[in-house]
Amino acid sequence: MNTIVLGAGIIGISTAWHLRERGHEVTVIDRQPGAALETSFANAAQISVSYCEPWANRAAPWKALKWMFDKEAPLLFRPRMDWDQWRWCLRFLAQCNDAAFARNVQQIVALGAYSHAALKDLVRATGIEYHRLERGIAHFYTDQKSFDDAGHAVELMRRFGVQRRIVSRDELLQIEPAFRAYGDRITGGTYTSTDESGDARVFTQQLAQRCAERGVRFLYGHDVLRLNRMGDAIESVAVRARGTSAGGQKDQILKADAVVVACGSYSAPLLRTVGVDLPIYPGKGYSATFPLLKPEGAPMVSTIDDGKKIAMSRLGDFLRVAGTIELGGWDLSLDSPLARARCHMLSRRIEQILPGVCDTRTPEEGGNPQYWTGLRPATPTNIPFIGRTRLGGLWVNAGHGTLGWTHGAGSGKAIAELISGERPAMDFRFLGEGATRQGANPLSIAARA
Ligand SMILES: Cc1cc2nc3c(=O)[nH]c(=O)nc-3n(C[C@H](O)[C@H](O)[C@H](O)COP(=O)(O)OP(=O)(O)OC[C@H]3O[C@@H](n4cnc5c(N)ncnc54)[C@H](O)[C@@H]3O)c2cc1C
Repeated sequence: MNTIVLGAGIIGISTAWHLRERGHEVTVIDRQPGAALETSFANAAQISVSYCEPWANRAAPWKALKWMFDKEAPLLFRPRMDWDQWRWCLRFLAQCNDAAFARNVQQIVALGAYSHAALKDLVRATGIEYHRLERGIAHFYTDQKSFDDAGHAVELMRRFGVQRRIVSRDELLQIEPAFRAYGDRITGGTYTSTDESGDARVFTQQLAQRCAERGVRFLYGHDVLRLNRMGDAIESVAVRARGTSAGGQKDQILKADAVVVACGSYSAPLLRTVGVDLPIYPGKGYSATFPLLKPEGAPMVSTIDDGKKIAMSRLGDFLRVAGTIELGGWDLSLDSPLARARCHMLSRRIEQILPGVCDTRTPEEGGNPQYWTGLRPATPTNIPFIGRTRLGGLWVNAGHGTLGWTHGAGSGKAIAELISGERPAMDFRFLGEGATRQGANPLSIAARA
């Protein structure tokens, strides 16, 4: 079967790998000159099967309102004259209740467990090295109320088989002694030993290399212009090499038996051109990668700082720090006053938590942090769309929001299985399918699979 994958982020590359494993002829198309150069480039690096609660919960609308004028807020809603943004927000509000929250957690944990197993298989099969650390993920709190509330989340996650546990401040500092200097401010934390971290960009680029060695064809530097429809099916994709004008070079038309759209946030506008309307909206996030001044004092356990809702992961001689979400359109600027404020917040916060451990100086102070921003392909439920559309031959693997690295290996495997007529062994509602079993423990399902 001749299959085209649109997008060479973690989702597209993992899809290509698993399709090739099943004998497909695969072509990957991306506008960038290589793999993982957009949202999969510099994320927080967490394989976060257990820290996966959706944004939409009972308290989210009030928090978003409270934060609307705070430049450093973890979630910043920036209203625009954009119908897609408002539609997305209305759908998000519909998920802000306890029943939807529990339903969404069940799906996210199911995919997370399936994906973690798929990632381990992939690493075993390929030997890819990507600064992987299997030390778990910790989460620390700096105010008593948030720490008390963490107990409810732990209980809920345990219902789904996630072994997250509450830890005292002392225990947290034993798990990760790097936070000792900040210990007085920590009220307590949670910890899950089975989570891990590693560099998504390095992993994706290495996997793309392995795909090429196995015969996957790559068309980098090409914009996908159109999906061409023939009746109720997609029969081809129109692409154009970057840097050539519409009149300058003929667009290439590539025919395929199946097309998988894995274009991250850009999947939604592309799909809309053929009448497939999915609520995927960009959620801008920031990261900073700091060189370590004192490697011996830097954390090895990937950690979430609840105070600022930022995650930090050790990547060799660097510390990656990432977080915050802005719902404000497609802007990727790093030099606006708002973007600068958010990047500088990352520098300040790390200096506060880990004094003297990294070179956190901002460019204005003579430092050289690698600030970066990316658009998370966000859905109102935090559940990605994986599966078939109503158009023959058109498949989607997109909308992975905050968890695309965590869910990448499994999402690629699942769509490759579906396209090949197999049923992925997890309790998940795939696009184009009816409801599946609800309420089962996803981790035990993954263990049986
Ligand atoms: C600040 C931040 C921190 C994060 N931290 C984590 C984390 O710790 N753990 C985690 O699991 N996830 C995390 N994520 C989320 C994760 O990075 C994303 O979910 C994931 O990278 C999405 O992958 P993707 O392949 O769908 O999209 P992308 O990586 O953006 O890939 C899509 C590709 O499609 C291509 N494309 C799009 N449109 C076209 C077109 N018209 N023509 C040609 N090519 C096109 C793009 O060039 C791009 O290469 C974080 C995200 C951010 C922003």
